[in-house]
Amino acid sequence: MVSPFPAPSQSQQPAAGATPSASPSASSSQGGVSGSLASPFGAQAQQAGLNIVVLDPAHGGTDPGARGTGGIRESELVLDFVIQVRRALELQGFQVVQTRQGNENPSFDDRSATANAQRGAVFVSLHISSTGLPGTVRVYVNSDLPPVADSNGLIPWDRAQAPFLGLSKTFGDLVQGFLTQRFKGSPDAAQTASVRQLRTTAAPAIAVEISSVTVEDRADLDRMAPGVADAVARGAAAFKPSYVVPNSPGALP
Ligand SMILES: [Zn+2]
Repeated sequence: MVSPFPAPSQSQQPAAGATPSASPSASSSQGGVSGSLASPFGAQAQQAGLNIVVLDPAHGGTDPGARGTGGIRESELVLDFVIQVRRALELQGFQVVQTRQGNENPSFDDRSATANAQRGAVFVSLHISSTGLPGTVRVYVNSDLPPVADSNGLIPWDRAQAPFLGLSKTFGDLVQGFLTQRFKGSPDAAQTASVRQLRTTAAPAIAVEISSVTVEDRADLDRMAPGVADAVARGAAAFKPSYVVPNSPGALP
């Protein structure tokens, strides 16, 4: 279940990093993984590329998320899915950071802060829905929000996603494509929706929603985890060359 926007927050913080640019032909992200001696250029290139995936097992704590009649809880199942997604991403060479490890419920802002503290990261929020055709998976990216900056040039916290929407769509379409190959009946492209968790995230960000908690046997969902993990990992790897964040001149290493 994906949460829609509540009332906009008034808090403001600078969005992490500079505005990214997508460049399909950019090869700088490959410079850091060649295994050659670390030249200043190589170290810089590696720093600028996509290295980290922040995984967000949605809900938790007092918020069970979607619940099925068979006692299936979204908040518990997403933790099991995340273990497999994490493993698949690590096999692709990504570092993985989770917004929660166990049955706690960090706030939306806490989860975004975890993502926004990383450099060279994408954000993936995992959900199990109460709707949709069982056995299908949908990827959501946030609805368009015009980027605005205040008089100090700061992007409001609740618009942090705005500069990243194009990259989020590219990333989401790639992950959705791999999911749809595996889970027939899933959409062909990522969909847009008002997703609260994505709105405050200053990185390419998607929500992956698996259908559904209404299955009678939890094993039907468990069987989907390896395919979801594989699709997210392949999607992140395929997205990597498109993700280039310019280094700020004079930035500390
Ligand atoms: Zn959910």
